[in-house]
Amino acid sequence: MELKDVKGIGSKSLSLLNKLGIYTVNDLITYYPVRYDVLKQTDFNNLDDDMKVIVDGRVESIPIVIRIKTGLNKMNFRLSGTDRIFGVSIFNRAFLKQHLTIGSNVIVIGKYDKVKNIITASDIKLGRLGNSIKIESVYHLTNGLTSKNISTYVNMALLQLGHDIDDYIPNYLVEKYQFPSKKMALNIIHNPNEIEKLKSAKIRLKYEELFEFMFKINYLKRENTKLDGIKRKIYKKDIESIYKLLPFTLTNDQKKVIEEIRVDMNSSKRMNRLIQGDVGSGKTIVSLIAMYMNKLSGYQSALMVPTEILANQHYNNMKNLFGDLVEVKLLTGSTSKKEKNLIYEGLLDGTIDMVVGTHALIQEDVKYHNLGLVVTDEQHRFGVNQRENLKNKGLTPDVLYMSATPIPRTYALTIYGDMDVSTIKEMPKGRKEVKTYVFKNDDMPKVLEMMYKELQENHQIYVIAPLIEESDSSNLVSVNELKDKMNVAFGKKYNIDIVHGKMPSKMKDEIMNKFSSHKIDILISTTVIEVGIDVKNASQMVIFDANRFGLSTLHQLRGRVGRGEIASSCILISDTDTKRLQILESTSDGFKLSEEDFKLRGSGDLFGTKQSGDMTFKIANIKEDYKILVQANTDSLEFLNNTPVDCLKLRDELISTVRKDNVLEKE
Ligand code: ADP
Ligand code: MG
Repeated sequence: MELKDVKGIGSKSLSLLNKLGIYTVNDLITYYPVRYDVLKQTDFNNLDDDMKVIVDGRVESIPIVIRIKTGLNKMNFRLSGTDRIFGVSIFNRAFLKQHLTIGSNVIVIGKYDKVKNIITASDIKLGRLGNSIKIESVYHLTNGLTSKNISTYVNMALLQLGHDIDDYIPNYLVEKYQFPSKKMALNIIHNPNEIEKLKSAKIRLKYEELFEFMFKINYLKRENTKLDGIKRKIYKKDIESIYKLLPFTLTNDQKKVIEEIRVDMNSSKRMNRLIQGDVGSGKTIVSLIAMYMNKLSGYQSALMVPTEILANQHYNNMKNLFGDLVEVKLLTGSTSKKEKNLIYEGLLDGTIDMVVGTHALIQEDVKYHNLGLVVTDEQHRFGVNQRENLKNKGLTPDVLYMSATPIPRTYALTIYGDMDVSTIKEMPKGRKEVKTYVFKNDDMPKVLEMMYKELQENHQIYVIAPLIEESDSSNLVSVNELKDKMNVAFGKKYNIDIVHGKMPSKMKDEIMNKFSSHKIDILISTTVIEVGIDVKNASQMVIFDANRFGLSTLHQLRGRVGRGEIASSCILISDTDTKRLQILESTSDGFKLSEEDFKLRGSGDLFGTKQSGDMTFKIANIKEDYKILVQANTDSLEFLNNTPVDCLKLRDELISTVRKDNVLEKE
């Protein structure tokens, strides 16, 4: 059944649902409420003015509708309930009038004005609450859809589906844990009427999600160990020649990691290694040297990064470093068709040694001559399946991941249990610590002054805002708004421009290049610059609405400055959440910050939110549901290794979804 086959979903609601990321019936029925409103009769005995109230009452007068102006009306009536009489006003619900006959039962939700004894209602529901409580599902919305709309679609879909709903928990485990059926759990989670039942439904759905996830991980791990690697013969002296081309000397940690990689590459075992190192620790060069070793032994390398900006930067670095020694190409979404075809050819016939790109690298039509190494930068941004997909391109390429976001140990054990980990602790010499300040919006004059100082020194500044456009639904600062403000303050003397994720890639690259070459002094951006960007002359990072971000994200952003010799600063602006943000003033240890984040906010921030594909869960939360995760891990491994005969079909189905995910790239 397709989404449009759900009764009540027309083309208009279809596109609205798409906006919410709902494309299939399964997306719809697993579009879980973000929270629940519990409706319960308000106790009027101890009530403050202006408090939110809920009254289970009876209409006592015929509602009077007053037209205020076109498109705006107000309806007034009297209501009895909780042994009192109230006045009720509500805007723009004149259409309810016909139902509000004297004596009818209604639930009124609104704000109570004690002096006037009037409830200004935000909602009126027909019917009675009685002594029970009523739980209402609240969904994350987009303009034009209400929670009620979504609820209606979900319930219709559940009705039409009957029992035709995928269920990934094997029978014996459903029995073991006495889980409700999938159908029942979905019904409850969307239409709960008891808190207890809601809990068990949630646990069931979380368990299933984690079971499915861990099954895939365990399956992939098992498949990995079956593969033999490429046995190379790379000598130390082979790589030392390239060291001479570097504009700096490598740190001991960098050398240590390169050696670990060399040993891996020379062994017959397939390399599966993660390089962890704080932002700015110099992971890139390590990976480039790994790619160089791979080229020396006659194989092709692919370097995959999460953004085009970063792809460009790495590409330029490689060009600079390798010159004519290596044939390097850049392949991204904005590469022209003609150029793409040439690259495809070169990759297939082996004339290209290295290719850098975004996930365009793992699209189906890219075929390699002999892919020997796959490097993934900012590894936490990619889903396991995406990485797997790229791995599947070559015979048994070695794989190397780089991540600036350290993974808390408990978590890493489960998700990255099959990897070898190299850590770069030491920072390149001469790095100055980035001074961090937390300011309030009222301190803006001071902030502008600090910015002005940097500009006078001929340094560049990044300014971060969480939004692209102003949106009336929030008070967040937008990129466009900031540009206007910055123009007023600095526009006469300095160049200011913006870059954000929704821009065409060509434009993004142009702007980033202009910033690199100092044709732009202040670059205002959303978090697209978060990962990897390296402009040494940028010495200040100003982040608006800093409270919106996790500590790790802020630390990453901060890592964009202080990349060279210039003393740098990071200014966090927020009126709330100051305590948490001040942690950043006191430490620049990314490992510590990620632990803090994990404690405070769970894994969401660690792995990015939407970008991370299979790292985000619809209902499970790695931190809160850690116990369920561990159980699901044990159970799925057991299930994989000793599948009961009557569950073989389910197992194969699960395996086929791993494969399917590998081919189908969802953005
Ligand atoms: P990250 O680990 O965050 O990816 P990069 O690889 O981008 O860090 O390196 C940050 C900056 O430090 C780059 O400009 C890089 O050229 C420089 N760098 C790397 N290694 C060294 C070193 N050993 N000495 C001096 N600078 C270095
Ligand atoms: Mg990097």
